[in-house]
Amino acid sequence: MAVQANGDAIFAPEFKEAPYWWEAAAPPATTAAPLPERVDVAVIGGGYCGLNAALELVRRGASVAVLEAERIGFGASSRNAGMVSGGIKLASMNLGATLGEDRAAQLVSEAMASLPFVEDLLTREKIDADYRRAGRFLGAWSDTHFRGLARQAELYRKLTGMRAEAIPRERQREEVGSDFYRGGLVAEAFGALHPAKYHQGLAAATRAAGAQVIDGTRVTGLVKDGGGTRVETARGALVAREVFVATNGYTGGLTPWMRRRVIPIGSYMLATEELPPGLAARILPTARMISDTKRVMAYFRLSPDGKRLLFGGRASFRQVTARQAAPVLHARMCEVWPELSGIRITHAWTGNVAFTFDFLPHLGRHDGIHYALGCQGSGVAMMSYLGHQAALKLAGGANTASAFDGLPFPTRPLYSGSPWFLPVVGWAYRMRDWLDRRAS
Ligand SMILES: Cc1cc2nc3c(=O)[nH]c(=O)nc-3n(C[C@H](O)[C@H](O)[C@H](O)COP(=O)(O)OP(=O)(O)OC[C@H]3O[C@@H](n4cnc5c(N)ncnc54)[C@H](O)[C@@H]3O)c2cc1C
Repeated sequence: MAVQANGDAIFAPEFKEAPYWWEAAAPPATTAAPLPERVDVAVIGGGYCGLNAALELVRRGASVAVLEAERIGFGASSRNAGMVSGGIKLASMNLGATLGEDRAAQLVSEAMASLPFVEDLLTREKIDADYRRAGRFLGAWSDTHFRGLARQAELYRKLTGMRAEAIPRERQREEVGSDFYRGGLVAEAFGALHPAKYHQGLAAATRAAGAQVIDGTRVTGLVKDGGGTRVETARGALVAREVFVATNGYTGGLTPWMRRRVIPIGSYMLATEELPPGLAARILPTARMISDTKRVMAYFRLSPDGKRLLFGGRASFRQVTARQAAPVLHARMCEVWPELSGIRITHAWTGNVAFTFDFLPHLGRHDGIHYALGCQGSGVAMMSYLGHQAALKLAGGANTASAFDGLPFPTRPLYSGSPWFLPVVGWAYRMRDWLDRRAS
């Protein structure tokens, strides 16, 4: 859809309400292949999590059908920013107090293992997803946040053995050509990839290994059937010995118990037109992945060819379209770099991330149905890893159980899966951001 109406100058004539990533790797048209009658494992959801589970399961000899409601690649897995974090955030969550020091240490160590897991997967399956160890810069929104990041740098160094350094405000322009932040944290144990190319390569590898990856097939019911489950879809039914739910931010009424434990939140992104020569190197000289410590956080990076800026964040706490959210993101981008005010938007898109009430990802089994859910907006590595872990568990191939398996999975009274409270949370977050900066 070309949008140049109403003299809206921030939209380029070729503007599309679709992910920039789909220019190189669009989800293929639906083929709605026939359903098998019976499989060992039915995987619901064809994103990184479901596909990683399926790949490992077929390699271990199981028959597997991945059932995806939409096109393969419809979900967050082809819409994200492609920042590959090793889940190290968990290290700063003081989990020992609630889960015990041993379990907390295992969770951190597994979360960190998710980064090399994805790196190995890309190499092993020969997936060309423009991967590189880019490192990340986390911008401090306030002086207090910066002091916190200086402590985090020490922890990151200890855990990763890699460079992690607090960069004071005076040196910030080494990383971001802007004075917007109050310094920040550089950590090298982070990667960057093209999310849709990763997803497509993974889908191809999963199919080649022997899994049936079936699109256009929404699962509508799960009914106990002898020793297995009858998996009902709009296109007929099949019987599966085991069922694995990998629907993350798109978890719906099919699994009400899971839906009550997952908070779907829209995240928004835009891509700019190609930047004039020299500008990309001026605004992001090290081409790292960037995010910040604001509660209403922003995240941004250059496109893999280094020519465009991709800028994302929570543009709204209400449900709005990507087209409606784009001006908000554009304005935020110009707060970081006022000189980008004349740079136009070619793509804007949105997708759902899945938060949980304890801010942890969860792997487990409820009422005989397996699941991996809840990446807190950071699931490129983590949901891939958890899908793989789920497969090891289902195939009986894990030497030790994953520390994420069977954690208490909290919900809240009156919550049924529709986050009516988000506008209030958004207001409170914006207020906290304002106060934090003022106090600095
Ligand atoms: C804008 C945005 C930016 C992000 N940036 C980053 C980032 O930079 N780094 C990072 O680590 N993470 C990021 N994330 C999060 C990351 O993309 C997700 O954590 C990850 O892709 C989740 O993968 P998944 O396989 O669990 O779920 P998804 O890829 O969302 O797949 C779930 C699928 O389940 C399907 N489904 C749902 N219900 C049914 C049903 N009943 N029957 C059949 N199919 C069903 C859906 O159609 C969907 O395709 C971002 C997310 C968004 C939206």
